[in-house]
Formats: sequence, structure tokens, C-alpha cells
Amino acid sequence: MAAYSYPELIPVAEEENAASAEQLSADATAFALSHQADAVGIAAMDPLYVFEGYTVDEPWVIVLGLAHNYERLKEVPSDETNGVGVVDIGDQYAKGTRSSYALANWIRSQGYTANPYPGPSASALVLIPPAIAAGLGELGKHGSLISPKFGSGVRLAGVTTNMPLVATGPSRFGADDFCSTCQVCTRACPPGAISKEKQMVRGVERWYVDFDKCIPYFAETASCGICIAECPWTRPDVRPKLLATMARRMADKADSSHVPTSEASTRKAYQ
Ligand code: SF4
Ligand code: SF4
Repeated sequence: MAAYSYPELIPVAEEENAASAEQLSADATAFALSHQADAVGIAAMDPLYVFEGYTVDEPWVIVLGLAHNYERLKEVPSDETNGVGVVDIGDQYAKGTRSSYALANWIRSQGYTANPYPGPSASALVLIPPAIAAGLGELGKHGSLISPKFGSGVRLAGVTTNMPLVATGPSRFGADDFCSTCQVCTRACPPGAISKEKQMVRGVERWYVDFDKCIPYFAETASCGICIAECPWTRPDVRPKLLATMARRMADKADSSHVPTSEASTRKAYQ
């Protein structure tokens, strides 16, 4: 209910803040971080970020990351006796609603158009692709974002705007590489919706989740989230080790002395 309780949007101020794009980007980021966002990235708008049948006119999208409480998230899936995990999912979406509306209203007070798109139903805006473009994380095998700060335990919200901004750019920390030899989510997914290997999806080779399998299970259990809770990157005690391991592997690759990885060596990295 809180996630769908949208605050009022204020009118756009008549006078534009004439600061540089760099300064406005820094100010918008600082504002979002002090208004419940846990991570912030900026990407140039791409028509591919907009669902068919919708139009978004603003040239920029600011993506907000809202971090899960791992102790609560790991209790998914929920049932009548245990609703802790799903409550945390709702809490993060509600935080995303408040944070994205607050940021949109701050931008409007600076004289620029801004529209909030909080999850889970971000209407026109697809949130994961701009989040990846803005450096908030990489796409995981489970079809969700993997953040270097929060692992897979992160929800997203977006704000589109015509405020002049500077893109933050993508960031690779090895999650995609790690997924190629990890099968934790594939094995943990009750309906077997997560493909082991990348597949060609609309002309792009990428990780693939069969939502015709995921969604019925998701509906039966009144939400799921097992794949993001079980992902090794989500565990706060494991994430720093994974970041260090993958940084070493990437450095090895850059030196052209990369040793091929196996599922066993990948498992060793987090056990
Ligand atoms: S949300 Fe649940 S059913 Fe859907 S892919 Fe993840 S583990 Fe599988
Ligand atoms: S559980 Fe393993 S394969 Fe699945 S998203 Fe996380 S790291 Fe990738």
C-alpha cells in the first residue's frame, strides 16, 4: 500500500537553476542519497528503456537503488506464518516511491521537468537496463540487477528529467563472469525458470528467465525472491570476498594470463 501511495508532484518552477551539468548532477545525487536512496546513477535516455505504447520525452534518467535488509530478505518466500521477506520487498518499493517523488519535486523546484517511476510497476520505464548503463550493477543470471554494494538485494526506482546532467557510465566488477560458472539461483528456483546458459533474446545474447514458469509460482506464493536472496553476492559476509576475487580475475584477464574458471573454483570463492 505504501509503495502505491504516491505523493503530490509540485509545478515546475519558472526560473531554471543555471548551474553546470556537473554541479546539477552532484546536487541531484546528494539530494537523492539524503532522501532514502542507497545508490544513484545517471544515464542518457534510450527509446529501448521505454515500453511499447508509451512515450518519455525527457533526455535523462536518474536511477535510484534501494537496498534490502538481508536478514529479512533471506526469509522469502513468505507464507501465512512468515511475511518478513515480502514485507521487506514492500518496504523497499515504498522507499523508492518516496525517494523518487522527493527527487522529482526537488528537480521541479529547480525549474526542470521531472517524472518519477517507482517500482514495482514503473509504467513506461524499464528500470534494469538504465540501471546497468548508469553503473548501478550488472545483469545476473536470475534476470535481476547485481549491485557491487548490495548484491541482488536491491530494488529500483527512476526519475526522468530534462535537467542537464552528466552520465555516470556502466561499471563492470565481474558479476557477469561469476554467473557463467555459478548455478546457485538455477538450482534454487522452485519452478526451474532460470536458464543455465545465456540465450539469444531479441538479437542479444544474455541471461534468460522464463517468466511463464516464474510468474505462476510467484503468484502462488504471493511473491518469491528466492533467487535474489540465495545469490552469493547478496550475502553481506561473502560480497567483499567475491569483489576481491573477481577484481583479481579481471586483472589476470587484462594481463592475458587468465586461467579458465570452473564451477568448483567459483564456489570456492564464496564458501
Ligand atoms: S522469483 Fe522465484 S520463481 Fe521467479 S525466477 Fe526467482 S526463484 Fe524462480
Ligand atoms: S546465484 Fe550465482 S548465477 Fe545466480 S545471479 Fe547470483 S551469482 Fe549469478
